[in-house]
Amino acid sequence: MRKLKTFNPATGERIAEFDITTSKEIQAMVGKAKKAQITWAEKSICDRAEIIIKAYEELKNRTKQMADMIHVEMGKICEEALGEVESSIKKIPIIADDVVNALKSEEINDGLTRTISYWDPMGVCASITPWNFPMGMPQTLIIPSLIAGNTVLFKPSEEVPLIGKEYADILNKTLPEDVLQVVIGTGDQGRELVESDVQLITFTGSQSTGKHILEKAVKEFKRVILELGGKDPLIILDDADLSNAAEFAANNSFRNSGQVCVSTENIFVMEGQKNEFIQKFIEHTAKVPVGSMINHSQKTHVLKQIDDAVSKGAKILFGNPNDDVGNNLNPVILMDVTPEMDIMVDETFGPVACIISVKNEDDAIKLSNLGHYALGGVVFGTDIKHARNVARRLDAGMVGINRRVGGATGSPWVGAKRSGYGYHGSISGYRQFAQLRIVSEST
Ligand code: NAD
Repeated sequence: MRKLKTFNPATGERIAEFDITTSKEIQAMVGKAKKAQITWAEKSICDRAEIIIKAYEELKNRTKQMADMIHVEMGKICEEALGEVESSIKKIPIIADDVVNALKSEEINDGLTRTISYWDPMGVCASITPWNFPMGMPQTLIIPSLIAGNTVLFKPSEEVPLIGKEYADILNKTLPEDVLQVVIGTGDQGRELVESDVQLITFTGSQSTGKHILEKAVKEFKRVILELGGKDPLIILDDADLSNAAEFAANNSFRNSGQVCVSTENIFVMEGQKNEFIQKFIEHTAKVPVGSMINHSQKTHVLKQIDDAVSKGAKILFGNPNDDVGNNLNPVILMDVTPEMDIMVDETFGPVACIISVKNEDDAIKLSNLGHYALGGVVFGTDIKHARNVARRLDAGMVGINRRVGGATGSPWVGAKRSGYGYHGSISGYRQFAQLRIVSEST
């Protein structure tokens, strides 16, 4: 039996060991999921939501334990781990309500014909997730899918199977048998899942894996929802409050060691304000607590981008990346970054912020829209109408003005260009977990 081992990224200590799910087991699980889906779909959507909400109580009792597990298996600092668990738990009843509302059938009557739309379950869904929010990411894919009446085969990232398994075990205390099953493994098991007899694939992860999944899925018309990587800009307009912008930039570039899809990676600041901004940014950066990077290969990727940038003329303003030991990497601020450097156009997913000084906002927008990523972006400025115009010229799927990108309750989480394909959250997002059918009759 092949094993999957996980280690504490900060200390190297062994955390857990699991049997990797075999191909035969995956096929058997798909069979069980198909069978279970029939009775799961026969329940009303409200009953399914009710069952999920019961799990919410159990999760609340396990808050501290889940947060500790995230801290040791994924490496984020305790405070952030607790924040992830608390906010995930708080969202469960909200997601449940939103999904129930999104999937209510609707009637249209034009006087001649009455048509009723139904949002039916898709069938069996594969949910494949990354490691950076080991509870938050699975939840955003699993809960809507289950409430929509699908059964789910969930594959957590190979970096965090302990947390994924624990989360599923808690949900399984209230769910009927085989409605939610866990596949343990690496990309190989993810690939097998994608190629198995599933009707829907929900995925959060890198652009390259997303592309691979899309190519496979399209051959059999499988439905997909892909939330992929980002390269988020922060544009500081000349009327921005520089202190607020600097504080935001430090938190949003370095929280979770920069391992957030909507981390601020490129900061565009007007030439005249550069020095003042840099001074404030460094002051705030020095106060941000950082955890460990997830593994050696992610750290190597980040160091390679820094080396490439420095070899092409970028300067390190803050941090000594080559002095950090193990998987630790303290914040790094680079300046004089240009589009010829990988770090300006490819996702870093680490604690590095690049400062690019520009003559005007048109240059900032043009440079922000380079490349294939278009997940989030942030604009700082006091004239909100003007900041909104700048926001509307960015390619990003989500833009925050003087704040993070996430929208009001009920908003979608959406990437544009190659940062996403389909999306979730919101009425239109949750409908993507279901199959629309209409029945019409003459009136
Ligand atoms: P990844 O793409 O390497 O892996 C994600 C998952 O896919 C893992 O479970 C992995 O085992 C599996 N996988 C790998 N190859 C596969 C294949 N060929 N077929 C099927 N499954 C496969 O990503 P990661 O390193 O775990 O996560 C980091 C990435 O996730 C970053 O790019 C980040 O921006 C992105 N992310 C995006 C969002 C968003 O909302 N858009 C949120 C979080 C993370």
